[in-house]
Amino acid sequence: MIDNILKQIDQEAQAHPNRIAFDHLGQTNTYQELADWSSRVASAIQRLDLNHDVPIMVYGGQTFDMLVAFLGAVKAGHAYIPVDVHSSEQRLQTIIEAAQPGFIICVEPLPIETAVPQLSLTELHEVYHSFPIKQGEDSLHLNDNFYIIFTSGTTGKPKGVQISHCNLLSFVNWMKYDFNFEEKNVLLQPSFSFDLSVMAIYPTLTSGGTLKVLPKETTDNFMSLFSVLPKLALDTWISTPSLIDICLMDQNFNPQNYPQLATFLFCGEELTHATASKLKQRFPAAHIYNTYGPTETTVAVTSVEITDDILAKYARLPIGYVKPETTIFVKSHRNKKGELLIAGPNVSKGYLHNQAKTEAAFFDISGVRVYRSGDLGYFEGKLLFYTGRSDFQIKLNGYRIELEEINHYLSEIPFVKQGVAVPKYDQQGKVKQLIGTVVLKQSAGDELTATHRVKQALSKLVMPYMIPQRFKYYQKLPLSANGKVDIKALITAVNAHD
Ligand code: AMP
Repeated sequence: MIDNILKQIDQEAQAHPNRIAFDHLGQTNTYQELADWSSRVASAIQRLDLNHDVPIMVYGGQTFDMLVAFLGAVKAGHAYIPVDVHSSEQRLQTIIEAAQPGFIICVEPLPIETAVPQLSLTELHEVYHSFPIKQGEDSLHLNDNFYIIFTSGTTGKPKGVQISHCNLLSFVNWMKYDFNFEEKNVLLQPSFSFDLSVMAIYPTLTSGGTLKVLPKETTDNFMSLFSVLPKLALDTWISTPSLIDICLMDQNFNPQNYPQLATFLFCGEELTHATASKLKQRFPAAHIYNTYGPTETTVAVTSVEITDDILAKYARLPIGYVKPETTIFVKSHRNKKGELLIAGPNVSKGYLHNQAKTEAAFFDISGVRVYRSGDLGYFEGKLLFYTGRSDFQIKLNGYRIELEEINHYLSEIPFVKQGVAVPKYDQQGKVKQLIGTVVLKQSAGDELTATHRVKQALSKLVMPYMIPQRFKYYQKLPLSANGKVDIKALITAVNAHD
């Protein structure tokens, strides 16, 4: 068991300074560089004399400088907020408003104006060489926030999930105990603003392993994806099931070309039977795990190996056995199915500067923090099964989206009278696209022009994955008894036709 993530990473650096910690398509950085540079960044941050509970935003892509900035912030006693370079300007504004960071480390230039003091990439590089290594006691206490990740919020305002050092330790110790990360080459594919990246970062860096980065530009282009992947010499795969669906389209994705690849960890969305069995056929000797968890409970809280027996027994796969230290209750009145309530030291204290949403989603039982997940499920013995959501949160290619967030922004577009985004499902019950159902004002132009204009307007307001791929236009949208747009009726309509 480790009791301090920062100390453990520094110990790894002392034990093998020249080992590669981060490999970005062949551009490598060592443990020594990670430990040394992040300690110098910590000194620079401490000179700012910020209040202890003020977070530091770190803006950029999937680079080593981001990781150095994260650890630098935490070593200085401040939580970091990872914000991806592909975020819309509106999202950047709302995150800065909600989080009130004391400082922004801009690994990429920030595209908006803000009064918050900033450090550019050039200045960050100067810090690596000109500031002293931070000395003295640990600045971060167990209950202090380690990172804050922003997720989709129903009112158009993203919610900042606060994860403490203690929350993260509970997760990392479980990962290190249940899965072997020692000196492994581990895939780092999701952006840093998605907590699935945490599943790769901290178990790997506290085990002397190497993060093998697959940047978004590579993932987005199948040709380069299929040519880069085999060169990564991966031992451990971590991704959403959506990415493995793409990889399985390539016949060369097989044990001959990936001789070391022995473990697959999936999280973030449903792992379908079809995907898991295809993968098992392709990699019969590999261990495939389904894991489940919301960002609010620190990445993942259950896991199960998907063996041939499990595949034979269940048409819809289980999400797993609950990790040590954590308890899951099923809140149900009559039958055994109900909302999953997750309790334990891995549960967040709540949303940053948002008491109302925190009180709605979290509570305490005898001093133990509990999160109302909104996920529905049931236990069969100790094995947990997921059956769906109790609200309008969906997953598209692993991205968490509150439909109401898109609806909020659709309805803000001046030439849109009413707009609602609804999911279109494939045969496996997975969301395959978002459809914008819209009532236009007279001035909007024909449907083709309107679609172009709506997409353009949304691109400034929401993350790219929240922009519906298709639009349908209506004279009016169906209303439910309370006078609101009947989203359920629209979902049924969109999935019944074509
Ligand atoms: P996020 O906070 O982005 O990690 O999303 C968490 C949500 O993703 C959960 O509350 C579930 O709705 C869904 N989810 C995560 N893992 C799984 C899984 N293995 N199977 C089904 N749904 C999942």
